[in-house]
Amino acid sequence: MSFDYDLFVIGGGSGGVRAARVAAQGGAKVALAEEDRYGGTCVIRGCVPKKLMVFASEFPDAIADAAEYGWTVHAGGFDWSAFKTKLHAELDRLENVYRGILKNNGVETYDARAKVIGAHEVELSDGTRKSAKHILLAMGGRPVLPDQEGAELGITSNDIFHLDELPKKILIIGGGYIACEFACILNGLGVDVTQYYRGAQILRGFDGEARGHVSDEMISNGIKLHLGTNIAQMTRGEGGIDVTATNGDTQMFDQVMFATGRAPNTDDMGLEAVGIELGRKGEVLVDDYSQTKVPSIYAIGDVTDRVNLTPVAIREGMAFVETVFNGNPTPVDHELIPTAIFTQPEMGTVGLSEEDAREQEPIEVYSTSFKPMQTAFAGRSGRVLMKLIVSKANRKVLGCHIVAPGAGEMIQLAGIAVKMGATKEDFDRTVAVHPTMSEELVTMKEPQIRQ
Ligand SMILES: Cc1cc2nc3c(=O)[nH]c(=O)nc-3n(C[C@H](O)[C@H](O)[C@H](O)COP(=O)(O)OP(=O)(O)OC[C@H]3O[C@@H](n4cnc5c(N)ncnc54)[C@H](O)[C@@H]3O)c2cc1C
Repeated sequence: MSFDYDLFVIGGGSGGVRAARVAAQGGAKVALAEEDRYGGTCVIRGCVPKKLMVFASEFPDAIADAAEYGWTVHAGGFDWSAFKTKLHAELDRLENVYRGILKNNGVETYDARAKVIGAHEVELSDGTRKSAKHILLAMGGRPVLPDQEGAELGITSNDIFHLDELPKKILIIGGGYIACEFACILNGLGVDVTQYYRGAQILRGFDGEARGHVSDEMISNGIKLHLGTNIAQMTRGEGGIDVTATNGDTQMFDQVMFATGRAPNTDDMGLEAVGIELGRKGEVLVDDYSQTKVPSIYAIGDVTDRVNLTPVAIREGMAFVETVFNGNPTPVDHELIPTAIFTQPEMGTVGLSEEDAREQEPIEVYSTSFKPMQTAFAGRSGRVLMKLIVSKANRKVLGCHIVAPGAGEMIQLAGIAVKMGATKEDFDRTVAVHPTMSEELVTMKEPQIRQ
């Protein structure tokens, strides 16, 4: 049977573009459909614009510190409109880079929505049909508003990059990394930020001590973080949104941003009709090789809701190509993924939290918290945290958790050691780089006594 293509990819985000490019470079005839903008969530409304906003939001502290270091500083304001123009020019440039990658590697692109209509067939939004030996689902996910009255008055992370002006006062709902990052970004940009989270502590799933540390620092930086709190009522008022919290508090905000959840883009895709299984959240269920229940159809990235990070979507895309086009079945390795949360201060983490490790086996905990030299000199009170979780049985470092400026950069490197199975003694015999914050990772001598 002959097909139009060897591979048809649905979705031009991190995972889809990488898989399409690598398969085409190997000689496959590849097509890709993207219904919105090339680059997907990461490039257009995720990692990239967010990190640029993080950089923008860090300047007020840097400028204040400069004065403490003896510089004459002339304080000025932040021009959101100038920043936004430059930000979107950069995103346009990156989108073109992504289009170029596909074109230069011979991938045929369709600026259209695609849905699956058979094990080897997709239908584009203009009604044309294309056949392919393999179909790769890489449709990513989207933010969802909670199912509560008034929620439509709120915005999501998608909207934040397009605001005509920065709000003076915002309420952020949620305790995950996106909620916390935007709370810190907007706080840094001078917005009055209140954050409600219904749980007992932000950043669920991460190390307890690290979560507490980030939360303390966010509060001392001026974010009004209310835990165990949610919206009870939300209505359009004069000049803003009136919000009553579950704790009885009533306030008006210019904007309310929900970062309360994301959903895989599987609605109206024809998936179940061809025999693909979906999970409870609508995610595509796949095996270790990213294969769905329909042997010719695979799925990677956020649409599978495994580990929703750009480098993971990329890895899954490359493993798919290796498995299907290079005859080398490659399962995706989801173990010991280092990751960063770009709060202020940042959190970098790899491996098990103290809580999870303790449930697994007897452990030692090495942890230190201190005021780093650079900001302490400038009179700031912020502290950093360096923490290692060590197996008592084989001395391996099971987890490394850093809360500090630059923690994202640090954890990338510590992640190599942890992934290699380094022991506490391997860390110890590594000479410290002095004076740095991360030298504490190789100089912690005594485990803490904890129950
Ligand atoms: C605010 C925010 C910040 C983030 N920060 C980070 C970070 O710092 N680090 C990190 O690693 N990850 C971060 N992420 C997560 C990261 O963006 C995602 O994990 C990653 O983009 C997933 O890639 P993907 O290829 O699976 O999907 P996506 O990048 O979402 O791409 C899917 C593409 O498919 C298209 N599409 C959907 N349905 C169809 C259809 N039927 N037909 C045609 N096209 C379709 C969409 O338009 C989209 O372009 C962040 C996410 C958000 C929202």
